[in-house]
Amino acid sequence: MSDVINVFQPSLGEEELAAIAEVFASGWVGYGSRAEDFQAQFAAHIGVPAENMIFINSATSGLFLAVELLGLGPGDEVVLPSQGFVANANSVLAAGARPVFCDVDPHTLNPGVADVERVLSPRTKAVMVLHYGGYPGEIAEIAALCRQRGLPLIEDAACAPASAVDGQRCGSFGDMAVWSFDSRKIITTGDGGMLFVRDPSVARRANRLAYHGLEDRSSFTTAARVASRWWDLHVEETGRRLIGNDMTAAIGSVQLRRLPEFVRRRREIAETYDGLLRDVEGIRLPPPIPTGHATSYYFYWVQMPAEVRDQVAENLLGRGIYTTFRYAPLHHVPIFRGVGELPGTDEATRTTLLLPLHQRLSDAEVHRVAKEVRRAVEGRLGALPRT
Ligand SMILES: *Cc1c(COP(=O)(O)O)cnc(C)c1O
Repeated sequence: MSDVINVFQPSLGEEELAAIAEVFASGWVGYGSRAEDFQAQFAAHIGVPAENMIFINSATSGLFLAVELLGLGPGDEVVLPSQGFVANANSVLAAGARPVFCDVDPHTLNPGVADVERVLSPRTKAVMVLHYGGYPGEIAEIAALCRQRGLPLIEDAACAPASAVDGQRCGSFGDMAVWSFDSRKIITTGDGGMLFVRDPSVARRANRLAYHGLEDRSSFTTAARVASRWWDLHVEETGRRLIGNDMTAAIGSVQLRRLPEFVRRRREIAETYDGLLRDVEGIRLPPPIPTGHATSYYFYWVQMPAEVRDQVAENLLGRGIYTTFRYAPLHHVPIFRGVGELPGTDEATRTTLLLPLHQRLSDAEVHRVAKEVRRAVEGRLGALPRT
């Protein structure tokens, strides 16, 4: 295992350990002041008010809650790219609404505004988009389209904690957004996520629904705030239990502080791959980053003829280099009942391979990956029958 190069890997160390030790010593490990601090720090990083940000236990929890907050259900359609995470479609289907899949550009794997517009119908009640590999995509244009049509926009910014368009952070374009701190993400808390809700009264409702429907969550850390009988329940709407805790928040605060350094290293690695792979026959590098856009460099993907892609992945695994593909297209999953052709999605699905990209890769490992990719692709292409 130790000499297999992973696609994703966290950077957790002494600072995070020290932060957890402090939480242990404080005598309180549940949702408390550290969770509130992390929420406020993350909100400041995104550029939105702290009251509108909620620290939760996963991005998926946030997507399900967002769909619930919008009151989506039977008869409603939600437009989302097939090239997305399974939780995107699950959150829609679980509410009884119908996921309607749009296509993506086969090179960026993000939907263009035209792809979204093409599948809108009178039954469309919301749009949900992600930022493939951290690339913002046409998020500003998609947000403008949604505003113009009066459609709520949910941004899945799981891959995009540091992404921006003209200085505006991804996740702040729509009405709600989620980020993920899952173990494979750029900043991780083991499990965790953030939910942004733009409308202040909906944000207050989101806070209640994230914790049993209770009106005032602060009473469980500081009983002194309540005059008497602080154990009484004030519930007007059923809720669930989606909040994070002070241990994961303490890790999150350290990781957020390190985010610029992580992104700098990831960018360095991406640019090294670009340089080393540029002249490999049959390989297409990731798309250029449009002027004004900033990516988080979550994925580094190369594209190659479909006839060789799977074998290249297998050869690389045999050489100790793990690669993968995200995301298996949702319109081919029977439960989501996708209909119609999505040529851009299908092309990307057959040709794309994600290479290892995480901030702990050494220069030697990056060079080794590039060398093996060159060998695998040129070897497979050379073996193809000439047409
Ligand atoms: C990882 C990921 C998620 C899920 O995040 P969790 O925190 O594990 O729920 C959602 N959307 C996208 C695009 C992701 O990459």
